[in-house]
Amino acid sequence: MDVEVGAEVELVSDVGLSNSFGVLADQPASAHALHDMDLCLATSFPASPAKSPPSKKTKKKTETTGELTDVLHAIQELSTKQDATFQKLISIENSTDATTKAVENLSLVVQKLVSDVNEHSEKMCRFARDITELQSSDKDVRSRIEQLERYSRRWCLKMHGVPETKNENLHSIVLNILENVAPDLRGKLSDALDVMHRVGRWNQDGGHRSIIVRFSTRSLRDVVWRAAKDNAYLKESHQRISEALIPADVAARAKLWPIVKKAREEELRKKLYFIYSIIAIRCTECLPEEWFCGECDVLRHKKQPLHNRECVIHGFFKAIPPTSYANKGEDGYRIHEQACISPTVKVPDCSCESTNFTVLPGKPVILITINGRFDLHQPLYVCQTCQHQWIPELKDLLRSGYWPL
Ligand SMILES: [Zn+2]
Ligand SMILES: [Zn+2]
Ligand SMILES: [Zn+2]
Repeated sequence: MDVEVGAEVELVSDVGLSNSFGVLADQPASAHALHDMDLCLATSFPASPAKSPPSKKTKKKTETTGELTDVLHAIQELSTKQDATFQKLISIENSTDATTKAVENLSLVVQKLVSDVNEHSEKMCRFARDITELQSSDKDVRSRIEQLERYSRRWCLKMHGVPETKNENLHSIVLNILENVAPDLRGKLSDALDVMHRVGRWNQDGGHRSIIVRFSTRSLRDVVWRAAKDNAYLKESHQRISEALIPADVAARAKLWPIVKKAREEELRKKLYFIYSIIAIRCTECLPEEWFCGECDVLRHKKQPLHNRECVIHGFFKAIPPTSYANKGEDGYRIHEQACISPTVKVPDCSCESTNFTVLPGKPVILITINGRFDLHQPLYVCQTCQHQWIPELKDLLRSGYWPL
């Protein structure tokens, strides 16, 4: 816009307008400067006809006047435009001022909000600390209450499976059961039963609610509790007496029980069914064929219990006693125990002259050799014809190389 204004101003000065206008036009084309120029034009124009040339050149003068009129129109138009622009600038300036003020107000508000938020977050932190403190003290109080309840329940026992009827005389029912459970306490229990009641809500389906019984002394309660373990009367009547645990302990035990059960089962499984996919047994006395599979080992050593055998378990040699042997099951080999019979020289046949007899493990004997101790059994011969039983005589043992003590 500056360039456009400058060009038109130059045109005006060419046609010989007042010098003062030219000077004004050189000034910076700011909004105020333009306004001043406008005023100046309005005042200086009426004077110009006085400076007009002499009447001799009337024709030329008329032309000049026409041109001047055009220029005047142009200037007026320009002035109007400038005026409008100026008005716009003023309004923009005003609105900018208003906006600045609004922004200032807003920033004040934001500052206030920020400080409020900081204050609130501090408060929240304090509340959170308070809540944590309250929670921990609440936990403390709860655990104290639990301890007290647990302690008071040491005077109590819980009875399960006792048939329930409406308007029952609970005292006499409980007394009757407990006198059967602990007959030694007959006569002492009646006064020792302090309070008792059914636990929970009345069961519409006819289920028998448990009974909680409080004894006047702990010693009597303990006697009943001991008597209730594996009690025949309770088993027959399908009843059960348990400790009156507090709910927290019941929940803890319920949670723990599967773990204990699993551990026990695992232990049992390991003990009974240690299973190997392959078993290799080495006998240091069966050289040169020292290696046996489970079956060959049994065949070979059935009558050689004094051989020194080793078994490879998890890549290590482990000495195994003569009583251990491997038996192949569906899922692999298991180590089993057997009774070993001390090897003995051939004994005389049965008095019935039958030669058909079996050898069974008889009296257990301990054999001490240079290799150590062997837990064996004396042979027991049973005649299959007359069922006569006999054992080796002293001379048979001596002939076998034993020295009985
Ligand atoms: Zn051997
Ligand atoms: Zn084999
Ligand atoms: Zn016989």
